[in-house]
Amino acid sequence: MKILVVGAGIAGSAVALMLSRSGHDVTVVDAAPEPPTGGFLLLFDSVAMEVFGQLGATSIAEQHSVPTPEISIRINGRRLTSFTWPGARLARRGALIGALSRYVAETVSMTFGRKLTGIEQRLGSVQAHYEDGSHETYDLIVGADGVNSTVRRLVIGPDDGMVYRNGRVHHWIRVPGTLAGTSRATVLLANGVQCQFFPYPDQDATLLATVIHAGDGRLEPAELLQASTDVLRRSGREYAAFIERVNAVDPDSTRITRFTQVRGERWHAPRVVLVGDAAHCIDPLSGLGAHGGLLGAAILTEELSRTPRDIWAASERYTRRTRRFVRPSQLFTAALVEASTGKGIRRYRTVVPDLVRASISYRNVRVPSASYAPHRR
Ligand SMILES: Cc1cc2nc3c(=O)[nH]c(=O)nc-3n(C[C@H](O)[C@H](O)[C@H](O)COP(=O)(O)OP(=O)(O)OC[C@H]3O[C@@H](n4cnc5c(N)ncnc54)[C@H](O)[C@@H]3O)c2cc1C
Repeated sequence: MKILVVGAGIAGSAVALMLSRSGHDVTVVDAAPEPPTGGFLLLFDSVAMEVFGQLGATSIAEQHSVPTPEISIRINGRRLTSFTWPGARLARRGALIGALSRYVAETVSMTFGRKLTGIEQRLGSVQAHYEDGSHETYDLIVGADGVNSTVRRLVIGPDDGMVYRNGRVHHWIRVPGTLAGTSRATVLLANGVQCQFFPYPDQDATLLATVIHAGDGRLEPAELLQASTDVLRRSGREYAAFIERVNAVDPDSTRITRFTQVRGERWHAPRVVLVGDAAHCIDPLSGLGAHGGLLGAAILTEELSRTPRDIWAASERYTRRTRRFVRPSQLFTAALVEASTGKGIRRYRTVVPDLVRASISYRNVRVPSASYAPHRR
């Protein structure tokens, strides 16, 4: 089949290489002028690592990440628990995505600076329209264009009713130095605000990701920085020393995103199918975005190989299988974030049933065996 993949993020790059190795004629386009570099942090787990391995990209993933340190959680300064996440790794998001897309571009035709703006479904084919006025015909379009997917809006419909938001915003801040002089990761909860601190793997700096309930309103970066320093102040003397560093951060260097989950029932239309965040964004805070995007890409490739002449049936099976682990992950992530940024610790009890469902769904995850992986490196 002649296949267009829209988006060269983790999901798009992975599915492009898998489909190409399965014998399809694959092209990738990405609206960004070039592959990303640097960026904030991305945590990925052992399932993501297994799929990187199947792609032959183990050394790329290892080169751009380090094992996730022990994570300790404190509520109002009191230590709740510490845990390690076996097999999980921390990467600079842009650096990892950039390296993966460059690796895939060695095999698959990939063009940056080309934005998809329209899709025309025809009998027996599908046409992609680009911002530069050009158009091209394909057998299948795979929409891997992220949480604000254009492909999704064009073929499935508007975001209303499909995108779940709960009024929480994330504030992403790079702070020089490490928290309390350690290389541990720490989650501080106080005042209905959650602050996650993760040390950068490649420099003396810490990612501070603050989550706060903003409702429908808009919070300015300076107000969000103030909320983070309040949490540090309430968490004990060892953390108070970090306040000065947070205060010195230029608010314009920070980034604000809204808690967003894509919960649509349908992930495909005739000759168009969505993968990664475009289909099922879990939310960056879950640590499961790469897991979901990579596993979904492998499942879609496997299902298309089973019935190459029936894209619709393959897309239906892919959606059913992928949703089995995505939906519990979404419910658990939302419950955890809402409990930790709501009123009162007792609400944590509401998280337990979702945690149980999510754990069961992970235990049942099977990474498809890779018929598309001719070699490892
Ligand atoms: C700041 C931040 C931190 C995150 N941290 C984590 C984390 O710790 N753990 C985790 O698991 N996940 C995290 N995530 C989410 C994770 O990165 C994604 O879930 C995962 O990488 C899968 O993304 P994707 O490939 O589906 O989409 P994306 O990575 O969003 O890629 C989409 C691509 O599509 C391109 N595109 C968009 N529109 C068009 C168009 N019209 N035409 C052509 N191209 C287009 C974009 O340029 C982009 O390159 C984070 C996300 C962000 C933003």
